[in-house]
Amino acid sequence: MGLRHLCPASMREEAKVADRSTPAAEEGTRLHELTARHLAGEEVDASTDDLTLIERCHEFAHRKANHGGSVYIEDTFPCLFGRWGTVDFARIAVKIFTVEDWKFGWLPLSRAEATFQAYDYLFAVAEACGLDPRDGTAWIYQPRLKREYRAVIVDVDEARAIIKKTLDDANAKDPRYNPGEHCARCNACGDCPAALAQVEELATIAPVDRTAKKKDVEAAIGAEVETWTPERLGKYTRLLALYEAALSVIDRKMKDYLRSDPSLEAVLGYRLKESERRSVTSTAGVYQALMGELPLGDFLKCSKLSVPDFEKYIRKRDGLAWKDVREKVDALIGEHITTETTERKERVK
Ligand code: SF4
Repeated sequence: MGLRHLCPASMREEAKVADRSTPAAEEGTRLHELTARHLAGEEVDASTDDLTLIERCHEFAHRKANHGGSVYIEDTFPCLFGRWGTVDFARIAVKIFTVEDWKFGWLPLSRAEATFQAYDYLFAVAEACGLDPRDGTAWIYQPRLKREYRAVIVDVDEARAIIKKTLDDANAKDPRYNPGEHCARCNACGDCPAALAQVEELATIAPVDRTAKKKDVEAAIGAEVETWTPERLGKYTRLLALYEAALSVIDRKMKDYLRSDPSLEAVLGYRLKESERRSVTSTAGVYQALMGELPLGDFLKCSKLSVPDFEKYIRKRDGLAWKDVREKVDALIGEHITTETTERKERVK
């Protein structure tokens, strides 16, 4: 929602490409899931780099909210004005509460974006749990950059009005476009006409003569840069960030285009180098095919039947609170679950 605050048109532009999943979004989802499991005390199978980020979030969560009480991890709360949001971590101790949210990207958030998101989550948890939003503290944490943002609500009416205005602006018939570095976090980047118009402006810096020698091109750019003012440099720095974001989207689109027609590889003289990820689409189908080939025990070891995943889906289906989910899951499949208690290494002091 922070993006809506900075660029009201982002809601409409992102809706046009709603079915698109970017590698960055997929990575964010995966790291959020792993962090949630780590916070819940599970051992997670992750690369060293991922584990570093996950442990930073875990440590941050407890450092900022170590006052006991009830803990909610990756829980969905109703937000103001009929929306829903997933809070990464919340701890409620009587009436004091802390809300935390992780952002796994490389681009630093702007203060306005972080504050807006923080307000949204403070209201969400306060409303859902019957608390005063002024008794909460929200933290937005970027583990890659080790950056943290803190926000509290002082004036409830004012904070509520900021959220309302952002939503009204985003839902306006003709919402305002505001291209900037935040475009890199917008799924519509690469398609959005306002962002592309800005990127085109950047292209005017360099000579377009493709036959020119590299040293002549560099000299021309050097001469151009000599004339820049700090304001102009600042503008081009922002445009470059936007350009990089657009480039990654264009790259993905070109690959999709090449994939759609393999004969293009010969025409263009370009071969797509790709790694493959193979996954099972039907567990029942695989079981049918392997019956008689594999003992059932070995088949189940390959199937990763995760009790937390069952709990998550049943909770979503029935709209239950976490505290009631286990009871429900036990009633349904308890006879097939074993519980093993292992001594857990203390991770957070
Ligand atoms: S790409 Fe940038 S300007 Fe376009 S909608 Fe998204 S945030 Fe707004």
